[in-house]
Amino acid sequence: MSNTVTADAELPLFTELGLLPAVETAVSELGYERPSAIQAATIPLLLEGRDVLGQAQTGTGKTAAFSLPMLSMLDVKSKSTQALILAPTRELAIQVAEAIQSYAKHLKGLRVLSIYGGQGYREQLDALKRGVQVVVGTPGRVMDHIRRGTLKLGGLTHLVLDEADEMLRMGFIDDVEWIMSQTPESRQIALFSATMPAAVRRIANTYLNDPEQVTIKTATSTAVSIRQRYWLARGASKFDALCRVLEAEDFDGIIIFVRTKLATTELAEKLQGRGYAAAELHGDIAQAQRERTVEMLKGSRLDILVATDVVARGLDVDRISHVINYDIPYDTEAYVHRIGRTGRAGRSGDAILFVAPRERRMLQSIERATRQRIEEMGLPGAAEINALRIQRFQAKLLATLEAGRDKDLYREMLQGFCEEHSVDPLDVAAALARLAQGDKDLLLKGDPKPSKALADKPARGKATRTDRRSPRGAGPESGMERFRIEVGRKHGVGVGNIVGAIANEAGIDSDYIGRIQLFDNFSTVDLPAEMPDDVLSSLQSPRVAGQPMTMSRFSGELPDTPVRKHRKGPSPSGKKPRKADKSGAKAKTSGKAPSKRPIKLRNKD
Ligand code: AMP
Repeated sequence: MSNTVTADAELPLFTELGLLPAVETAVSELGYERPSAIQAATIPLLLEGRDVLGQAQTGTGKTAAFSLPMLSMLDVKSKSTQALILAPTRELAIQVAEAIQSYAKHLKGLRVLSIYGGQGYREQLDALKRGVQVVVGTPGRVMDHIRRGTLKLGGLTHLVLDEADEMLRMGFIDDVEWIMSQTPESRQIALFSATMPAAVRRIANTYLNDPEQVTIKTATSTAVSIRQRYWLARGASKFDALCRVLEAEDFDGIIIFVRTKLATTELAEKLQGRGYAAAELHGDIAQAQRERTVEMLKGSRLDILVATDVVARGLDVDRISHVINYDIPYDTEAYVHRIGRTGRAGRSGDAILFVAPRERRMLQSIERATRQRIEEMGLPGAAEINALRIQRFQAKLLATLEAGRDKDLYREMLQGFCEEHSVDPLDVAAALARLAQGDKDLLLKGDPKPSKALADKPARGKATRTDRRSPRGAGPESGMERFRIEVGRKHGVGVGNIVGAIANEAGIDSDYIGRIQLFDNFSTVDLPAEMPDDVLSSLQSPRVAGQPMTMSRFSGELPDTPVRKHRKGPSPSGKKPRKADKSGAKAKTSGKAPSKRPIKLRNKD
């Protein structure tokens, strides 16, 4: 059976879904206003006890879609492991565990643990012994614990496969199946995957019990009069980027979309602090006040509205020249609704989307669904912004000159002033310009060159894992270094296994793993140059295809054997595993990673 959901359908309230009140409270404290489309469709099904096959990617709100009903059903009085979530990378495992922790804030006695390769066993064992109801882990380490008898699944009621296609891509699918076979028949399964390759479908058919399929309908269209651009939010803070965009764009009225009520307030306040006429608009604001705010925008007493999707529906203000998607929308329908707020009444409009690297998948979906390309934009650098500021200042000056108001009065006064103080009229003009500028500096301070993080055009494609254009034996691309691992074709290793092992053991984001070449007895892997030694040493013992990896810096010639065709590009999905968690771990690479390839690493805790 298939259940296709459109974001256009009026979304219910969280309070209408049947969640546990303690879970509802946590969600409301997080500022979530309404469930996303995938949540509205999935939560009631899971609460009914159905198995669910969800086609959803990062950014749709899928984590809450499976976590909220799960938390509503667990027995916190029992210490046994009742929920297991399998995720392809340790970053995702940590992120999901953190999200669950935040949703479980009011569930006293609920324990969540993330387990993944590269982390010491001791800590995991202690936590498992104390009893954790929810375990989030990568397949390899979860399998280890099941084998050792340290993770017992006899009481498991909920199993979630998160990013199943990614687990397949990273060579974990056999491990996943083995783990599934160790769980009780009666458990509920939720399987999420951005794409549905045959192997994922086969797993769904084999293990899921009469699943309901949930897909978010994407077919839709956007007006051609809207110029659509995106900025890949890497390195720079989104707020910094927003300020630069606001300075550089020639705008009239703007709507900025964010995900939560809290974010509307925070961002509107920050913008006010920068001198913009900005206000927030969200569902908790009384209707009368909302109408007043919209009237102010229409009458140019306000220029920027910071809004959530819910309140912006049907907003029709001609002077909106720009829509900025500060937070990426949950689905393509929401995107189309958002950008449809501009380009009204026959005018042209601009839509700008901020995309985190891990959300690139959503960008591709939007492009596919709207059948329009969204151009990548670089951020204006300080030099460009300063040039614009000077231009604007001069335009104002010119306009004042041309208007000539009280010209004779001021000329006479200044003539007297210059004579009395014997100063150059140009110096006086400079002093007056400074006076006109008020407290604000005319130019951005510091290096007039564009700031590195902001101006770097993101290197699209980055590390090419299987670049068949470069001849075998050619050295690594610049910024990369070649490493040797002692596992080769004759051990039965595949590229996916190597990527999986390195990503999880060393915490290197899989997009930063470059070309991999397989030989009979060994393989080579290109990784960002200047890898810290402790990261290298963490790659000595992990096993791939049953062999210790034993990684070392490669020096020497490559044998000239025929090339085995590898997959091309950093990832068929173009997707990057999520960022390491913000709280727990420090990056190991500070100052060491090449700037264009900021590898993300986590400490082994
Ligand atoms: P996910 O697709 O699970 O990676 O979620 C993407 C982001 O959306 C996370 O930062 C969540 O905190 C946020 N999020 C999920 N559901 C909602 C919601 N209903 N309202 C607002 N934000 C949400």
